[in-house]
Amino acid sequence: MLEAHSLTRVFGSTTVVDDVSFRVTPGRITGFVGANGAGKTTTMRMLMGVLAPSSGDVLWNGSPITAGVRRTFGYMPEERGLYPRMKLREQLVFFARLHGLSAADAGSRADDLLGHFDLTDRADDLLDELSLGNQQRVQIAAALVHRPSALVLDEPFSGLDPLAVESMTDLLRAEAGDLPLLFSSHQLDLVERLCDDLVVLSGGRLVASGTVEELRGQGAERFRVVLDG
Ligand code: ATP
Repeated sequence: MLEAHSLTRVFGSTTVVDDVSFRVTPGRITGFVGANGAGKTTTMRMLMGVLAPSSGDVLWNGSPITAGVRRTFGYMPEERGLYPRMKLREQLVFFARLHGLSAADAGSRADDLLGHFDLTDRADDLLDELSLGNQQRVQIAAALVHRPSALVLDEPFSGLDPLAVESMTDLLRAEAGDLPLLFSSHQLDLVERLCDDLVVLSGGRLVASGTVEELRGQGAERFRVVLDG
């Protein structure tokens, strides 16, 4: 269980994330929704330890998270993390090795993921030779390559068409299994359809969190208004 506990981040005199608490439950997909600028990326950076909170904590199974635990997470940052001029398979093996997989394990894991993501025939292509949609798929594969203990994905579906989003979600469900999985999006419709749980942020504040059914019961229209600005 990954938990944000009263996370707050102030830049200068602006509070960008304001006392935000929520849980990301293992085995469930949690959608993190909010308009551009709502504070999703800043919150995810605090979850990952890339950015220190001004106050509040990140908890893992009820205790303050450690750098060691965070290293086992799969993270797809907003700025992405892959090398445009590196071959796909080489890239996946490289990240797997960085996370301590043996050469043999890294190779077979890379091959498995290329297969699952339907990219086997592109294994020796450079990342920037792929369509944007396929580049996104490789970014997601890279977040999974070391068999992470949790997944934090910042706008993983940007650039993918609706059909590709559906199939990516099925893949993520299968790959993530029992892990906590949080992904951000500004598309409420998509998130409502694909997620089990929702966390809604507006202007740095938590507007709602709960299961999709619970939030529908409270009137999703309310959140649509929030998201539309
Ligand atoms: P987007 O989808 O556009 O990335 P977001 O919900 O992820 O939106 P954030 O990127 O977290 O939102 O940004 C929230 C607010 O914090 C924005 O107004 C942004 O300009 C501001 N912000 C983010 N990082 C910094 C920083 N390092 N210094 C100052 N302001 C920042």
